[in-house]
Amino acid sequence: MLIIPEKIIPDLISEQDAFTAVEAVFGAMAKKDAYNFPVIREAIGHADALYGFKSGFDRAGQVLGLKSGGYWPGNMEKGLTNHQSTVFLFDPDTGRPHAMVGGNYLTAVRTAAASAISIKYLSRKDSKILGMVGAGHQSTFQLRAAAAQRDFDKVIAWNVDPNMLGNLEKTAQELGLPFESVDRETMGQQADVIITITSCFEPLLMKDWIKPGTHIACMGTDTKGKQEVDANMVAAATVFTDEIAQSIEIGECQHAIAQGLIKEDDINQIGDVINGDHKGRSSDDEITLFDGTGVGLQDLAVADAAVRLAKDKGVALGIDI
Ligand code: NAD
Repeated sequence: MLIIPEKIIPDLISEQDAFTAVEAVFGAMAKKDAYNFPVIREAIGHADALYGFKSGFDRAGQVLGLKSGGYWPGNMEKGLTNHQSTVFLFDPDTGRPHAMVGGNYLTAVRTAAASAISIKYLSRKDSKILGMVGAGHQSTFQLRAAAAQRDFDKVIAWNVDPNMLGNLEKTAQELGLPFESVDRETMGQQADVIITITSCFEPLLMKDWIKPGTHIACMGTDTKGKQEVDANMVAAATVFTDEIAQSIEIGECQHAIAQGLIKEDDINQIGDVINGDHKGRSSDDEITLFDGTGVGLQDLAVADAAVRLAKDKGVALGIDI
């Protein structure tokens, strides 16, 4: 069994490696060559922690495994990140454990890869202004991955606490992009692409603020009750997602579905666009929305890529189990 420690992963896997791995598994999901198993997530009644598993099997890529972990709100005081995850991979032919991979950095890059994929396939090619809503841990990963997809010439951003915008501004500067803090209505009037990555439970962007032709990647809503955009905006957009079942249950679409504004059939799988089975955006005026709920197969795909890269570089630790 191979161990890939958390600390070596940032130098091991590039944004492009994560993008390629997630793009392939989204395509496999749409072809039903890869499927996610039901998610387990429980409050364990200790340390206020939420603990769970996301797992699946990618038959096309021959990747079987699970991501285990969750949220420990007291970790910051211990010098640790609150979100903790570890990926375990198993040999699909024998069930033997194949690898244990640190999952914290991988979670950020696989989530950023998902919105970047949606930008590649759904946003207008002439998109110039990138809007960021949210400025937490994930946001800089999101910004970097998005910037690789279009020839943006400016980043505009909003966060409920504007003091948190410094990290995004620094990342924009590193990417050579001018940065401006704006209010949410200005964001809607100006941005060609908007990424939302917050822990919000109410709509932050309203339908009437968004201009025609915008692509919106909603990445923060991954739990029942969370919400980042107006349900009427979801209804007005052509909607894509990583997995339809999760989009309806825990994704941004949960609200539009509950209010009867859209039906399950209105939600498209991004994998169909990747595979060429759906044309994606059909006009320059269409609003497209990607509901990125975060699936276990994304974690397995990037963990598998990390294992291959670690083996190639001779940095995987091997143990007998
Ligand atoms: P974080 O705690 O570092 O940052 C949270 C962000 O949300 C901050 O910008 C904060 O200001 C903002 N926020 C919190 N409450 C808000 C409110 N009421 N109104 C407006 N903004 C609010 O978290 P993070 O690691 O950056 O993750 C952001 C979100 O993305 C989380 O909700 C997380 O669960 C989700 N997430 C989704 C995926 C996925 O695959 N879809 C993957 C990882 C994380």
